[in-house]
Amino acid sequence: MSGALVVVATPIGNLGDLSPRAVEALAGVDAIACEDTRRTRKLLTHAGVPSPALITVNDHSEARQTRAVLARLDRGERVAVVSDAGMPSISDPGERLVRAAAGAGFDVEVVPGPSAAITALVVSGLPTGRFVFEGFLPRRGSGRSERIEALGTEQRTALLYEAPHRVRETIAELASALGGERPVVIARELTKVHEEVWRGTLADAVEHVASTEPRGEYVVVLGGAPPPGEASTEEVTDALRARLAAGHDKKSATADVAKELRVPKRKVYEIATRL
Ligand code: SAM
Repeated sequence: MSGALVVVATPIGNLGDLSPRAVEALAGVDAIACEDTRRTRKLLTHAGVPSPALITVNDHSEARQTRAVLARLDRGERVAVVSDAGMPSISDPGERLVRAAAGAGFDVEVVPGPSAAITALVVSGLPTGRFVFEGFLPRRGSGRSERIEALGTEQRTALLYEAPHRVRETIAELASALGGERPVVIARELTKVHEEVWRGTLADAVEHVASTEPRGEYVVVLGGAPPPGEASTEEVTDALRARLAAGHDKKSATADVAKELRVPKRKVYEIATRL
């Protein structure tokens, strides 16, 4: 038998969301790579599945344990990967294991299931046609401010994970950088007893999170930025002239203006050639 890695989703709160196929998959593997052995053992007990060998894989040990998992696959074993909650690889260990197993030519199977991001997106009522997953923002520094700044022009719905003790700070920073008007949905404790879905604007959200002590797990679903108003021919011409006068060539002036005014390059180029 050839080895296979089986990525198995587990519930994000409500154990009833563990799928029959997930139970079957966990019962049929030789080992399970998991973040926390105690938590995974509890899940296995709930599912009535005898515990196979458990391999701890977390942010610190994923590189080392990947070699151990590959060795098992090489021996023809089936190894499952689960995280503490939801889909492995989504702000959780798993990605590296999948890449390594696929790269080494082993089969990779997936048993899909809940993920907090998609669950929050669907319940938010915000546009689902195009969305972007931000996961956890960097905690500080330019990495954080650049990501927040980019959200200022992001027209797709954005999904952010946040820890309870940081949710106030993040909402306040988003409101001050993006303005209070942007729609936002704060989804808390999804599928659990204290599930709560709050909808409003960023300005209202600042008050909302200030009004109660943040507790539990949060997904912030941020409505997209409105499309920019189309820049007029005069605005494009002025911006081009300024750049050409500053010594830019036509090509770079066109590229800069198209980016700055968010106008299609073709339109800017046509105007530039007429100047
Ligand atoms: N792999 C998981 C998934 O597929 O959603 C995410 C794991 S990440 C380490 C944990 C974060 O997911 C939490 O801090 C929170 O932002 C979000 N999360 C997980 N469960 C949640 C729930 N029941 N309700 C709201 N957010 C949740």
